[in-house]
Amino acid sequence: MKESILSLTFDELIEKLRELDQPKYRADQIYYELHNGKKLEEMSNIPKDLKEKLLEVYEDNVIEIIKVQKSKDGTQKFLYKLADGNLIEGVLMNYNFGYTLCVSSQVGCRMGCKFCASGLDGLVRNLQAGEIMGQVIVANKYLEGSVKERKVTNIVLMGSGEPLDNYDNVLKFFNLATSKYGLYYSERNISISTCGLVPNMIKLADSGYKINLCLSLHASNDQVRHEVMPVSKGFTIKQLMEACKYYFEKTNRRILFEYILIDNVNCSVKHAQELASLIKGLNCIVNLINLNEVKENNLKRCSHDTQKAFAEVLKSKGINVTTRRSLGNDIDGACGQLRRRYINKN
Ligand code: SAH
Repeated sequence: MKESILSLTFDELIEKLRELDQPKYRADQIYYELHNGKKLEEMSNIPKDLKEKLLEVYEDNVIEIIKVQKSKDGTQKFLYKLADGNLIEGVLMNYNFGYTLCVSSQVGCRMGCKFCASGLDGLVRNLQAGEIMGQVIVANKYLEGSVKERKVTNIVLMGSGEPLDNYDNVLKFFNLATSKYGLYYSERNISISTCGLVPNMIKLADSGYKINLCLSLHASNDQVRHEVMPVSKGFTIKQLMEACKYYFEKTNRRILFEYILIDNVNCSVKHAQELASLIKGLNCIVNLINLNEVKENNLKRCSHDTQKAFAEVLKSKGINVTTRRSLGNDIDGACGQLRRRYINKN
């Protein structure tokens, strides 16, 4: 498979064009137009022979939206097709401040979390940096946005895949997304959600990027966490908390803990108390998520009362709690559901 042309950072593009005896302004033109949603072959201001030379090496048809599902609540779900035919998903949420796009970092996932549909078939492959950036570019174009007038205002790496399991490409994606020659996102408007791969959390803290960190915690003790998230067997919750503390010290970004409430698994009052003492003193916020039931497993969401009681315990201990608005339930909003259904039908 060829390298996506969108994977080139601005500096790499300059370098490549220098090799081809091209002036620097060509890099400005090409990078700008690519991030504006144009393909290289569509750029009428670039000489034909230069395009041909680049297209020998790079993939121009990086990603396209092949299906859009619209929810009654305004959420839209995209099914994207990659150059090699693989499919990934994205969710676009409409808030009063703008649009947040949830992007995927891998095709499939190898983390095996019990509640999640993305990992049911394991990892297919990592996405290239340009394929992650491509999701943002085509969604922005779909909304009739441009480089000058961005419509996608926030990006969350919370779609299919484990971003810290594709570390180098994800870091390169941060370079692309924050480039002032392209869409120029602020690090404040980008979030990454991880199941907690401790060594790479530390690496990210040391990377120099100050990206918002969301941690999929989903349990208040190691025993429950090992049950629902097999990958957690490599680390203890204590190590995770230390990594979060380090991340905060390095970046000054408040940590967001994601906690899916699963009936009879992790949502008793005792669990809430345990969670409260675990995160006490950390500058953080807990985001409670009601389980999006997936037919391939038999986990159930908890009742409204249980959810309320859980939140109350945390609040009484002075912890910031939000409950995730359940968006897009009618459009297979949970990770990996739309892709699975599409693949199973076709
Ligand atoms: N691998 C990363 C990002 C992908 S999952 C991570 O683990 O954080 C993104 C978020 O969706 C996570 O918080 C994940 O736990 C949640 N999620 C996955 N399946 C879900 C489901 N069936 N219902 C509700 N949330 C789910």
